[in-house]
Amino acid sequence: MDSQLTTNFKLRGTEGVVVFGTGNFGKIIVRAISDRGLTIKKIIDINTSNHETIFCGYPVVGPDELTENDVVFLATNISNRKFLRKLCKDKKVLSIYDVDKILRESRWPSYYSELDLEWSLDRAQEVIDLYLFDIDSESEPLFLKVKSLDVVLTERCSLKCVDCSNLMQYYQKPIGAEVEILVESLKNFFETVDFVSELRLIGGEPLVSKNVERVLDTIYSYSNFDKIVLYTNGTVVPKESILKKFQDPRVWVKISDYGPVSRKAQLLADTCKSLSINCIHEQVKEWEDVGRILNRERTLEQNKVVFGNCCVNDTLTLLHGHLYACPFSAHTDNLGVLKNAETDKVEMLVSEGLKERVRSLYKDKEVLVACNLCNGRDHIVAKVIAGVQTKSPLRLEVTSA
Ligand code: SF4
Ligand code: SF4
Repeated sequence: MDSQLTTNFKLRGTEGVVVFGTGNFGKIIVRAISDRGLTIKKIIDINTSNHETIFCGYPVVGPDELTENDVVFLATNISNRKFLRKLCKDKKVLSIYDVDKILRESRWPSYYSELDLEWSLDRAQEVIDLYLFDIDSESEPLFLKVKSLDVVLTERCSLKCVDCSNLMQYYQKPIGAEVEILVESLKNFFETVDFVSELRLIGGEPLVSKNVERVLDTIYSYSNFDKIVLYTNGTVVPKESILKKFQDPRVWVKISDYGPVSRKAQLLADTCKSLSINCIHEQVKEWEDVGRILNRERTLEQNKVVFGNCCVNDTLTLLHGHLYACPFSAHTDNLGVLKNAETDKVEMLVSEGLKERVRSLYKDKEVLVACNLCNGRDHIVAKVIAGVQTKSPLRLEVTSA
């Protein structure tokens, strides 16, 4: 434990620290804190259905139970740290800590198997790496360091999932990204940000795009990134000449396996293995219920809470020459249901003031126009079965919540 944290904690004379957050990340942090010899007195969670339950042996209560003298650790990996910190400050809590120091000093992979996580070890490591990257970026405000960029290669998909969070189920005539626009936007992105930790190649299904090689070549021509992850639904095995482009230690193929519909998932995983390509093959059983376009009729303040607590509110998404703060915003705009969306996006082909516009979209947003059409993405949102198919595209309409 960082000695200053320990000292602060002792000086305050509290009976124990408070962990704000549950879930998989919460489990890792609770264990890491306990390992450092600190006593945990309670867990705080926003999700009311968790209140008055027990998490890792500790009672879970709501933020109303926070007191000024609590020593709070924000055990959230997602994009709502700012929001939770503000919530603690509103409750006049004086001692609020991120968990980067605890994570860096812990031996968490050694007790991974005891934690009963829904994440694989690789996934847990990836989440922690991105969390630490985000914290480090905050200490360098002059640099524009971005956690991840979703690069949409195509609206086309080999599946048509009813609850696709990227709203593919509403596209009547999906098209591929126009490659020159995509390449130019990508170049401008790389020349604008100082660093991006993870490039995520997505669709639809990115492997139905003819432009995978060209996009990879564009990315490979830059060095200010760490990792490329191609997300695929396990229905397509590209020819070997294309797969060989993935033979780079920085590239991962991530197969989301939805059961029988992901009919080539195992073949793709085996092919990747035989070609020494990094591959993660994950069974996906459920999603959050975020694939619907709803008129939530929330107030601005309510939408700010939804945004603040959203796990993808800083998932920059590149679609048809525009950069968006989240994929839902990108696709509701592209589908034409988002009105007055100018403040939700940045035009990537206009170089004037690009860095400041990207920085503002990434760092300063408190809410998006799209949030009012969105169910919200936090762990309170209901779950649906993943990968359920529809034969025809769904009717594009904004329904009442
Ligand atoms: S496989 Fe399903 S969830 Fe994935 S992009 Fe296609 S429609 Fe969406
Ligand atoms: S539109 Fe939805 S997914 Fe996007 S930031 Fe708002 S709540 Fe999150």
